[in-house]
Amino acid sequence: MTWLDLPADTLFGLDNLPYGVFSHGERTRRAGVAVGDQVLDLSAAAEEESFGRLLGAGVLNPLLAAGPETWADVRARVREWLSEPRHADRIRPHLVPRNEITSHLPVEVADYVDFYSSEQHALNASRVFSGGDDLVPPNWKHLPIGYHGRAGTVVASGTPVIRPAGQRKPRQATEPSFGSSRLLDFEAEVGFVVGVGTELGAPVPVDEFPRHVFGVCLVNDWSARDLQGWEMQPLGPFLGKSFATSMSPWLVPLAALEHARVPQPAQDPEPFEYLRAAESWSLDLALEIRINGHLVSSPPFATQYWTAAQQLAHLTVNGASLRTGDLYASGTVTGPAKDQRGSLLELSWGGREPLALGDSGETRKFLEDGDEVVISASAPGPAGARIGFGEVRGTVAPAVV
Ligand code: MN
Repeated sequence: MTWLDLPADTLFGLDNLPYGVFSHGERTRRAGVAVGDQVLDLSAAAEEESFGRLLGAGVLNPLLAAGPETWADVRARVREWLSEPRHADRIRPHLVPRNEITSHLPVEVADYVDFYSSEQHALNASRVFSGGDDLVPPNWKHLPIGYHGRAGTVVASGTPVIRPAGQRKPRQATEPSFGSSRLLDFEAEVGFVVGVGTELGAPVPVDEFPRHVFGVCLVNDWSARDLQGWEMQPLGPFLGKSFATSMSPWLVPLAALEHARVPQPAQDPEPFEYLRAAESWSLDLALEIRINGHLVSSPPFATQYWTAAQQLAHLTVNGASLRTGDLYASGTVTGPAKDQRGSLLELSWGGREPLALGDSGETRKFLEDGDEVVISASAPGPAGARIGFGEVRGTVAPAVV
């Protein structure tokens, strides 16, 4: 029930209520909650509330640091404001049309980690690179593989992605060369944002995941495959990834995803004790990837081998501490079907099978200047409703060198 005029099929109903940071006219860097096709200026609406002091920072970090009891309080109050008619007159002036706002990064990103937890993606990557070998690495089913990325280059959705320069050496070349990347790619991923940090030396037990992680967003882990292929000998991704990582504007709180939780796929061998969870945090998100408006893939998130709870337990098991604003991403989300692949590397099979962009007559092996990549997602909500994540968007800008 709500006094708002919400479309019946909205992805932003009262069961979603994701948080972001936006500007609109005189309102600059406000905390906002998306509802229907509007945004509630939460910073203004909450001025008289005790939690109002958490909402004036221009980023959501203070709210995230406050912990799960506060998150639940704020969510309950916002739901009450938007559902009970007695609040309508006071709240209505704090609503602005969502298509008029400028969205910003919702958090100041502390550390950034990227995982590699889709078995199908790991298999595809292995097949594309080795041309036949269809094994995942020997450690892959024992631990969620990841690397530390560059937090300072996590950018807001819509930020142009400049084609990076660097060293590359195709397999057939005898010497490396320097220049702009010719094999620029995207990776469709799901991101998790840490609210409550930890002390050094205090691992997070796998079932404590919802006490630390605030919410979920979409991530595009832009990747220069030629730079990556030459530099990853023997260490992990470096300049082939660090030029930009795009993050969607809306953080969907875990509380909105209860109906999206599904049983975790079987794990064999059984993982070590610290990775064994009492409850599954597999999430039934349906992703969609569009290049220049053409739907090219629909990866399913539910079948990821490692969950975000296991990833969090793993990334802290050595005693590494967490900070408010830490972002970690799932790894490329890829399903078993051809049209469920989460990167161009897979969709064009390393460039050997150019991908058709709808019926436009155009094909892509890798991204060209001017190409726009949009990743969106939704998940089941209560009573047949859907929970929307919005989208993460980026356009490739020409190289500057
Ligand atoms: Mn990635």
